[in-house]
Amino acid sequence: MALTVVGSIAFDSVRTPFGARDRMLGGSAVHFALAASFFTDVRVVGPVGDDFGAEQLEVLEARGVATDDIEHVPGGETFFWRGHYDHDMNVAHTDDTQLNVFADFAPKLSPASREAQMLFLGNIQPDLQRDVRRQSSAAYAALDSMNLWIETTRDALVAAIAEIDCLLLNDAELRMLTGEPNLVVAARAAMQLGPRAVVAKRGEYGAALFTPEGSFAIPGLPLEEVRDPTGAGDSFAGGFLGSLNDARAGGDHDEAALRRAMAFGSAMASFNVEDFGTERVRNLTESEIGERLAEFKRLTHFDAARVPA
Ligand code: AMP
Repeated sequence: MALTVVGSIAFDSVRTPFGARDRMLGGSAVHFALAASFFTDVRVVGPVGDDFGAEQLEVLEARGVATDDIEHVPGGETFFWRGHYDHDMNVAHTDDTQLNVFADFAPKLSPASREAQMLFLGNIQPDLQRDVRRQSSAAYAALDSMNLWIETTRDALVAAIAEIDCLLLNDAELRMLTGEPNLVVAARAAMQLGPRAVVAKRGEYGAALFTPEGSFAIPGLPLEEVRDPTGAGDSFAGGFLGSLNDARAGGDHDEAALRRAMAFGSAMASFNVEDFGTERVRNLTESEIGERLAEFKRLTHFDAARVPA
């Protein structure tokens, strides 16, 4: 089973109440790929500039991520994002976005990336997401986006959403996209655009899954150490899609597989926030993931009981 991801490959400068980092490795495709690499074979598609070197590639390659579809643009500069978080770490404030090599990027998937059974269209300009979807023969495709693209390229985003199976968005973005203040109504409205599953990411409060059959929700793990939430959404998506490795023709996942994927996604997001950038996830072990999954199970378990008389 293989999974192709397109999305930003970035340098991020981030400030949180717990510290700051300048030009650390980031981007939606990078956070996603590292998280998904614990579950399946991952291939990253996207451009980088002259400032992206062996050190950054090594972070991905050390986790077995295939980097041969990362295109080096001579004379170019890598995508750059600067942001900060105040005390409410659920809200990222963007201070600067420089598309750089993404501005003129024309994706060209290698045969191996086209043929991967699953595709993740990470947060990037929606026309690029559509272009990649069309080149891919994946049985199952998921998409993430953000407020910038909802505000500036809504029609292109809606067209991209029509071509995928699963939509992952923050709850606020889901409301913004659909104009529906109620999350359940917003998720149903998003499903009308095409996808059969909608995941609302809710920061420290967890995530909710909506399908035609019903809904499911998982809380965020109560963590004492949250240093940098950047990439949590992509790490969630990496754990979610990476663990959905039972993609059959047509990509029909049963409810149990989707629920399990919600737990793996939450586990990967919970690791991501414990340190800056990719620092925690790139050094994770499989046994740590297993332990965290067990923590989620304990957190959400209760015995069925009668209402006391
Ligand atoms: P998240 O998982 O939602 O926290 O996404 C974090 C990543 O999104 C960061 O590593 C940024 O490099 C990346 N990012 C921020 N803004 C954009 C954008 N407009 N397009 C693509 N990627 C972005």
